[in-house]
Amino acid sequence: MTDPRTIAGIYLHWPYCERKCPYCDFVSQAIDNPPAADYADAVIREFQSRKDELEPTRVVSVYFGGGTPSLMPPADMARILDSLATHAPLENCEITIEANPSSALSAFLVDARQAGINRLSIGVQSTNDEILHFLGRIHDRKQAIAALKAARLAGFDNISVDLILATQPSTVAHVERDLDLLLAHEPEHLSAYCLTIEPETAFGQRATRGEILATDDDQALLQLDYLRRRLADAGYDHYEISNYAKPGLRAVHNSLYWSGSPYLGLGPGAHSYWMDAAGRHHRRENERDPARWLGRMKANQDAAGFVEILSADNLALECIITGLRLLDGLTGREFENRTGQNLIERFGVAIDKTVAAGWCEVAADPTGDVLLRLTPQGLDLAESVFLEFSMVLD
Ligand code: SF4
Repeated sequence: MTDPRTIAGIYLHWPYCERKCPYCDFVSQAIDNPPAADYADAVIREFQSRKDELEPTRVVSVYFGGGTPSLMPPADMARILDSLATHAPLENCEITIEANPSSALSAFLVDARQAGINRLSIGVQSTNDEILHFLGRIHDRKQAIAALKAARLAGFDNISVDLILATQPSTVAHVERDLDLLLAHEPEHLSAYCLTIEPETAFGQRATRGEILATDDDQALLQLDYLRRRLADAGYDHYEISNYAKPGLRAVHNSLYWSGSPYLGLGPGAHSYWMDAAGRHHRRENERDPARWLGRMKANQDAAGFVEILSADNLALECIITGLRLLDGLTGREFENRTGQNLIERFGVAIDKTVAAGWCEVAADPTGDVLLRLTPQGLDLAESVFLEFSMVLD
């Protein structure tokens, strides 16, 4: 197994969208004519000034996230990838772009494939037009299905689709219909999240006025349970709390986050994580405001919003929270390699408590090492499990 500390990813945040969705708390702003050429120049400049943070790792993934990066002209993507390739060979890399069905049109997809993009993550969210309207999305079912077809025709053989469950007033029947339509196109990967209401969003404001925007927990669990059974029957491996893949096609990029590998984040609000030569773990968030980030890049200034060195406690908790998201679980050896700490000494109390509650189980991996993982019940209560582990450190 590859040591996760020896491989890395590059994340590029494109902050522009056609319209702001009312549930969205990502760094994104609605704009008519995004400054694509300036953005590409600035990302290239940021990469050139920070590429040493990737040393001495091998880059295995490049991810264009957003925002709606399918609004970026493919020629600018190609320019960015050419610049990355001067430092990091990209031949065997997973190179993903998030695409909104409204902008994932045939010509764009053909050009993006030509530019070097080899994986597409399509924000379908739902195939029900009423739910899409409720979510404030600018696409409809027809466009979502057309994007999937166009992606196959453009030569994409690694496609992921995103779904949002548990929106008011959805039911299991909606999820059934979504999967009927989507699985017909055999996407290689699927991510499904329940709608969460973030306070700083339009939905957050409506919720404080008493509107019910998400289903209750029981309905959400019914939808999740149906989705899991249906995807298992269709041959998908449920490998992370919210992610499912055809065998051998887990998301390389997100797996870096869950395994504790370093990543370099470029663009407004992008996060980075890396270890320095002294073994200290750094976390950084870029300036979030797109115009201010662009201004700093043009002035050849660093665009850090904050940088912190993780304490031993934070590192241990982060390892638990990311490691337990994977259904394979976390071994004592992985925990020790990532944190320099002993899993049982550090979290024995929380492990006993969550095992007694039926949320976690302790087993032995094939080498006899201790293996900690979530039970099916723990999968549904992951936030409560993580809270138990965080309380040990208080
Ligand atoms: S398209 Fe995505 S990033 Fe843009 S506003 Fe909607 S949810 Fe947010």
